[in-house]
Amino acid sequence: MGSARHGHAGICRGCWDQMHVPIPIRGPLSLPFRAFGITRSKMNPNICTICERSFRYVKKQRHVTVPATILFADIRGVTALSERIDAIRLSAIVSLFQDRCAQAIWTHDGIVNKQMGDGLMAIFNFPITATDHAGAAINAALDLQRLCAAAFEDLRSSLDGLPAHTLGVGVGIHTGDVEIGEFSSFRSDFTAIGGAVNLAARLESQAAAGEILVSAETAARSPAWTAGAGERLLALKGLDQPVRARVLARRT
Ligand SMILES: [Zn+2]
Repeated sequence: MGSARHGHAGICRGCWDQMHVPIPIRGPLSLPFRAFGITRSKMNPNICTICERSFRYVKKQRHVTVPATILFADIRGVTALSERIDAIRLSAIVSLFQDRCAQAIWTHDGIVNKQMGDGLMAIFNFPITATDHAGAAINAALDLQRLCAAAFEDLRSSLDGLPAHTLGVGVGIHTGDVEIGEFSSFRSDFTAIGGAVNLAARLESQAAAGEILVSAETAARSPAWTAGAGERLLALKGLDQPVRARVLARRT
């Protein structure tokens, strides 16, 4: 769908990729839609709020199974730091992290599906489809590591008392089939669940500051980005067999 998407710069890319329906989200054509509350999604400014609610109102099904790449990221060292710095500095750190991560994820057509304080979960290949969603997620991770490191460094020089090299981001990435849909009776936006989501979260929990842990499945789909990367055998909670992961370090 590459040519179609570039020819429809002002329309929702999620609605186009999922349903081939052009929903204007920019420019004068978007005004009547905005009057009905259809606006750009906070998950990604290139998708709309119909995408968030499409399962109940458009697809008429509760969930779908799709191949996707899931990325989890969170700030390492922030718990220890929260005991030593004030709330204002802590919120500055968290909002820098959330903003820089979103910027990197959106650049590579992913969505920020959930924000959990000092962490987040991103989905690649839904609702904006991408043939190389594994490569997109890896590139988003490399970008977000670089952007967060620069932002934390700036913050450290402007806020005295913030110790050097205490802050960093850990990332975990895994590719597999996930269930995407609305799984709550009182929220109307979608999320992804399943074993593949859990594995991405577990990988992230093992990533040190500055590290990106990429599962063997994701690495196999993007050899260009993981060739030459170190390998680590991880014992993950809830899994009998150790899991092999590629370790990508932040580009400096
Ligand atoms: Zn949409």
